[in-house]
Amino acid sequence: MRVVFLGAPGVGKGTQADRIAAQYRIAKISTGDLLREAVRNQTALGLEAKRYMDQGSLVPDAVVIGLVREKLADPRCENGFVLDGFPRTVPQAEALGAVLTSRGIALDRVVNFQVSREDIVRRLSGRRSCPKCQATFHLDFAPPKVGEVCDRCGEPLMQRSDDRRDAIEMRLKVYDEQTAPLVAYYQERRLLFQLDGSSAVDVVFQHLSQELEPYRAV
Ligand code: AMP
Repeated sequence: MRVVFLGAPGVGKGTQADRIAAQYRIAKISTGDLLREAVRNQTALGLEAKRYMDQGSLVPDAVVIGLVREKLADPRCENGFVLDGFPRTVPQAEALGAVLTSRGIALDRVVNFQVSREDIVRRLSGRRSCPKCQATFHLDFAPPKVGEVCDRCGEPLMQRSDDRRDAIEMRLKVYDEQTAPLVAYYQERRLLFQLDGSSAVDVVFQHLSQELEPYRAV
């Protein structure tokens, strides 16, 4: 199963990618996660990427393409993969196509998650996570038991720097200008599946797995 999850920030791509990866035993490649890990480890790449990420703008294509190319070569991708948050520009989509062709493989499906703008802003601005154990919460939908403190380890929760209002606006603008054209790009290639991402996580997962089931490895 080789799939791409497309959609604006906050539509639930990451949550569903985790579940699909577990269900079908495929690799999840999230460029956002890979970049945040590089920032945490203060690598040269992380230090360069942080400037863009904090503002909500995109990290240069060459950087993320390099990251994904490296991950796709990993034997853990042999059974398949779900790409979460990549590609985000037409040049990234073209580079992905070229990498897959050179390996003699192709995408099975590109899922476009659709959620209203109002819901997206609410989902993103309420997200919190624990800096120690990485547990995730949402102030409205999955609130911690006490204040803004981690249920598991008692650490004060943090908000991602790019989940603040000004960065959210920037990320949505970047999405409209640079990523939304990929919907038509993959529609032309007959790979696109439109998914309503506004329902509860379990309901979205059910629709998604129904659509992807035919591509499960035998
Ligand atoms: P995400 O967790 O997918 O929302 O990504 C967080 C941030 O990482 C984005 O706002 C970008 O700054 C950067 N990023 C993640 N994926 C990409 C990508 N494919 N191309 C460029 N920048 C990316």
